[in-house]
Amino acid sequence: MRQFEVIFISFPGNLGNLVPTVQFARHLTNRDPRFSATILMIDICERPLVNAYIHSCAASSPHINFHHLPPVDPPSPDQYQSSLGYFCLLVEKHRPHVKQVITKLLNPTELESESNSVRVAALFVDMFCTSMIDVARELGVPCYLFFASPASFLRFMLHLPTLEAQLATDYTLDPKTELLVPKDPAAVLTIPGFTNALPPSVLPTRVLKKKNDGYFWFLHHAGRYTETDGLVVNTFRELEQHAVDSLCNGEFPPVYPIGPIVDLAGPAQWHPDRAGHESIINWLDGQTPSSVVFLCFGSLGSLSVDQLREIATGLNRAQIRFIWSIREPPKETLDLPGEYKSLQEILPDGLVDELEGIGKICGWVPQSKILGHEAVGGFVSHCGWNSVLESLWFGVRIAAWPLYAEQQMNAFQLVKESKMAVEIRLEYREGSDLVLAEEFERGLKRLMKGDDEVRKNIKQTREKSRMAISENGSSYRSLGLLIDKLAVNT
Ligand code: UDP
Repeated sequence: MRQFEVIFISFPGNLGNLVPTVQFARHLTNRDPRFSATILMIDICERPLVNAYIHSCAASSPHINFHHLPPVDPPSPDQYQSSLGYFCLLVEKHRPHVKQVITKLLNPTELESESNSVRVAALFVDMFCTSMIDVARELGVPCYLFFASPASFLRFMLHLPTLEAQLATDYTLDPKTELLVPKDPAAVLTIPGFTNALPPSVLPTRVLKKKNDGYFWFLHHAGRYTETDGLVVNTFRELEQHAVDSLCNGEFPPVYPIGPIVDLAGPAQWHPDRAGHESIINWLDGQTPSSVVFLCFGSLGSLSVDQLREIATGLNRAQIRFIWSIREPPKETLDLPGEYKSLQEILPDGLVDELEGIGKICGWVPQSKILGHEAVGGFVSHCGWNSVLESLWFGVRIAAWPLYAEQQMNAFQLVKESKMAVEIRLEYREGSDLVLAEEFERGLKRLMKGDDEVRKNIKQTREKSRMAISENGSSYRSLGLLIDKLAVNT
């Protein structure tokens, strides 16, 4: 009998935020039959993949109710300068609707409470939905942060106000790149959560480039995390011991590392291009074990045409079998990357035909199925946290090529701190950098053929990640503590 209801709200901008939220809700409701979940959806018609995903989850998750919030007027263009700004304002505008839904759950009609006496245990907000903390407080409902990025990045976010003062005095704006650079070119940063000093060049673009409102929103949300009753992080202690310890110093709300929560079925379950996805897996079936490199830059990652040409040339030179997922850069701030219509138009003459002999160039792919295939031996990744956890789960070595958000810091962590990835380029910035074919080819060869330390570390982490969520593993126990707290507070 379900007794406790947990409510989730997640940033509607992309699947990278929504998927781990839904998976966590599934994980929790499967682990403890006393819990059911409601996921509050902010519908965005321009996000057809998000809608397809939700549709499929609703059909296969009996203990999760997907509640679609009524539409609101979108923020007007003079109110935001970045897509992050747009979505944060959009989330804020949903506050009254969220309040209404929770109020209704808290005050069931007589008939409802006779048939079903479920009590609201908590509201979980993700990293950019902190405006809903106010709703939880108003209604006296416990509120938790569900953080789908690494613990190291959470610690970094909590350190932002201190860093802000340091950047203001010790840094200056480089007029060429419009990025903040240290006045002393040799300066490095000591950030809690990282054992090594960080080169400033791996900080998120939003922090180094204060041109638009993106940085404001970062700082704003980070400042609110400590108002919650707990920090639930999709990671595991064995992966990020130092970062988790640095969050447990008594300064912050209790921390619950409950991961890795990964969507192992992935888009194979819900993506409209079933036939295309099947043909990828069939092609992999015909390859020898660990021979294929997989290249994918997340749900939003797109590269310039010049960069695609360098990659294509590098792949052709390396002659390593590959699956390469690419997409076209968005045309407007709020657009999603599209699919390239014709590769012949953007790649040098004859190269597409030559590449067809050694690999497959695709649009959206069933990533977790690919990573789980024995033919795959390496992953060139933008280091989005879901991709990292999926790769570790399957023990696939990573070559780090970060693009946006916190990915440069994730790449630093993987390459320099935990030595689980080889480096393509740690401080790559979308639009202003170019990795040349030769550099890429060298990285590919290191990934597929060299670096025994990375190979060994990845293998061990694969086992540790599985142990963490199995009975009595570190994340299993951590989730148990969270469940106890949710049940006691109700
Ligand atoms: N993904 C996928 N196919 C693609 C691109 C992405 O299945 O072609 C999935 C991937 O498996 C991961 C998620 O989308 O679960 C991307 O999340 P991540 O945190 O890695 O990156 P983001 O998209 O948030 O930048």
